Amino acid sequence: MTGKQFFVLGEVRDRHIHSVTFELTGKARELADTCGGTVTAVLLSGGLDDDPETLLRSGADRVMTVEHPVLSMYNQDAEVKVLAHLLRRETPDVVLAPATTSGRTTLPALAAELETGLTADCTGLEMDPETGLLLQTRPAIGGNVMATIKTPVRRPQMATVRPRTFRAPDRKAAAGGAVIRPEIPPELFVSRVVNLGFERGEDGGSNIQDLDVVVSGGKGLKRPESFRILEELAALLGGGVGASRPAVEAKWMGYPHQVGLSGKVVAPKVYIAAGISGAVQHLAGMQTAGFVVAVNRDPDASIFRVADLGLCGDLFDILPRLTERIRKEVGAE
Ligand SMILES: Cc1cc2nc3c(=O)[nH]c(=O)nc-3n(C[C@H](O)[C@H](O)[C@H](O)COP(=O)(O)OP(=O)(O)OC[C@H]3O[C@@H](n4cnc5c(N)ncnc54)[C@H](O)[C@@H]3O)c2cc1C
Repeated sequence: MTGKQFFVLGEVRDRHIHSVTFELTGKARELADTCGGTVTAVLLSGGLDDDPETLLRSGADRVMTVEHPVLSMYNQDAEVKVLAHLLRRETPDVVLAPATTSGRTTLPALAAELETGLTADCTGLEMDPETGLLLQTRPAIGGNVMATIKTPVRRPQMATVRPRTFRAPDRKAAAGGAVIRPEIPPELFVSRVVNLGFERGEDGGSNIQDLDVVVSGGKGLKRPESFRILEELAALLGGGVGASRPAVEAKWMGYPHQVGLSGKVVAPKVYIAAGISGAVQHLAGMQTAGFVVAVNRDPDASIFRVADLGLCGDLFDILPRLTERIRKEVGAE
């Protein structure tokens, strides 16, 4: 393939292509289009129930699928060997991978194997028009600054990105490109790891990452009982409740509800932030939300800079009125 090659190491869970694969393929397409590059999505699995062609319709020029029983459950050993083999053969310039539990386990070992660098948990990716290098932006120094990191010498330039950091592109009705099954030497599937079983963990009942509406509260709520106001509004809108880190640290909400750099990344259609100042670490968890409503009594609060609708005033006055108004609109009892 000619031009810069962008590889996306996709994720397959329960035989389905995880949504983060589409988000990263869309981002890789955007980056590749700035420099006439090509995008290849790679899927390792024990078998797929989804059609890999959907990735061609999401911006990939080709999809490589590798299927083997050893890959049906996460296996770092085998994944690293297979991916290192493919990347050495294909020599891409840029490799993007999800910062999921498995991505965070595979990628450091893969980077070490390939003797290249890795920027984990990027919140922004761009191509430098002057040098053609990948600009990898992520929070640094305890989250107090945003650092932009380059990999000028070693190849590939590798970055991981948390799910929902980028929006998945709209799928085209049809697309060209090819799905290929590369030959992998069988010995690469021989692993020191034997998977004995898989037990799904609990997420504390919070599924805010999958919801269309998230109503989040911060330190401005002042006490745990105030979260009832948010729960009422969220229930009316068919959504869930999120929280800033200080609200979680104060035990007003459980950690599974935390939105931000050290919590979850959410991308709802509507995000309501009440009594949240809008620190960069909080924004990292909701920057891809569709429509942001901010309620804050400080007119200079940073949250208003990212809000589509800003309501400046006391949340204890505004939220009950908003809830009442919506209740009337939807005709709920
Ligand atoms: C490494 C690192 C990781 C971090 N990770 C996260 C993270 O994942 N998520 C996160 O949220 N933070 C995170 N933080 C913390 C972050 O820097 C901020 O401290 C935090 O987001 C602030 O939370 P807050 O907005 O609830 O509180 P504050 O900054 O104290 O803001 C409270 C807001 O409420 C408003 N307010 C008060 N009373 C009312 C009222 N009656 N009506 C309306 N408005 C009112 C105030 O005007 C103020 O703007 C992290 C920090 C670091 C260093």
